[in-house]
Amino acid sequence: MTDSAPRPASRPDPASAPEPPSGPAPGRGEGLGVFDKALLDRCISCGFCLPACPTYSLTRQEPSSPRGRITLMRALESGDLAPDDPTLAEESSFCLGCRACETVCPAGVEYGRLLEQWRDHQWQGRDRPLIARLLMAVVSRPWLLRLQGLVRRHARDRRAARGRRLAHGEREQAVSLMLGCVERGLYPSVSRAVRELRPEVTVPSGQGCCGALHAHNGDSAAGAEMARALGERLPGTVVTTSGGCAAHLAHHLGRDRVRELSDYLERTGHRPAGRVTVGGRPARVALQDSCHLRNGLGVTRPPRELVAAVADYVELPGAGDCCGAAGTYAMLRPDDSRAVLDPKLEALRKLDVDYVVAVNPGCLRQLRQGLRRTRSRTKAVHLAELLAMAARSEPEGEPDPEPDPGQGTVAGPAEG
Ligand code: SF4
Ligand code: SF4
Repeated sequence: MTDSAPRPASRPDPASAPEPPSGPAPGRGEGLGVFDKALLDRCISCGFCLPACPTYSLTRQEPSSPRGRITLMRALESGDLAPDDPTLAEESSFCLGCRACETVCPAGVEYGRLLEQWRDHQWQGRDRPLIARLLMAVVSRPWLLRLQGLVRRHARDRRAARGRRLAHGEREQAVSLMLGCVERGLYPSVSRAVRELRPEVTVPSGQGCCGALHAHNGDSAAGAEMARALGERLPGTVVTTSGGCAAHLAHHLGRDRVRELSDYLERTGHRPAGRVTVGGRPARVALQDSCHLRNGLGVTRPPRELVAAVADYVELPGAGDCCGAAGTYAMLRPDDSRAVLDPKLEALRKLDVDYVVAVNPGCLRQLRQGLRRTRSRTKAVHLAELLAMAARSEPEGEPDPEPDPGQGTVAGPAEG
């Protein structure tokens, strides 16, 4: 991401977009009702978010920044820009939805919610990209999800499959593994690894999609309904191996009910067993944050500590920056997605680690494809897979190794 990165020719001329306001937001009338007025008014146009934004880094154009997009939202809401203005269409799509802007905003702007409201308006019916429409149709059909999971042999649980009704107390105590749509089809070994690590986790059958895909692609009402429906199917604590699904589900089911895997393992005192080695030496392993796990839920420390417990942890410069996967983004905007990923691939090349760990299946796919394209020797794995690899390396019956003082400190940001 450099200042000189060319702006793709297909983008509208940013000069047609309104300038950012010079002071605090003026009071507005009723407006179109696209946005929650209180959320939109919270932005004070200070610009602190600009350096955190990957798309602003690519273009250095105000409309491609969080502040510029909020200015566009205000212009849409007030009627200063027509709803079919091409800059509105372009910038609502160009945004990754990574929420990095939220973490640096002094006014507490909930940009992720504003983006959902924007896309609800912008991506209605045929204005929604075709690929997003197709994917949403697929994940809305639980039988299709079940089928791909059966074919790819994701984790199954005979106890849960028997369908015994749980008593009230049992339901509260239960721990349910959510099977993500992407993982079921592409990475079923991730859910199997979780069951290997924590056999007490059950895998209820008949799970649908959590609705994050809908919420991020212009149908937040369906996204909320799907989250609630999944919450009813999954008893007790919901554990997910996807940072994006964790943030969406936690928003709708409550933070205490939903745990991303590393968060769950840390809170239950999990002590990783074994070591991951390469050629007889400890493997050097870096981590790529999940945007929604880091920026939405503030979870950064647990996955780093888990990696450091089984390998030589190396902090990846820019680990918290978006990898460009961003849900459907890599399919909808492959060139921009690649431009966002490239600096990360370069950082990984310089680091020359054995593995880079992802905590989200979309990031895993993005990293694997990028590393393959650049013929890197670094392999991308999910955190669950790395921990299961380490556990398998431990000779049976051997006690947990004493903590290695050299492994105790993790060079990375603290959990926010
Ligand atoms: S940092 Fe927050 S308040 Fe400042 S311009 Fe960005 S979104 Fe608005
Ligand atoms: S969500 Fe990410 S890409 Fe979108 S405005 Fe915020 S920082 Fe920029």
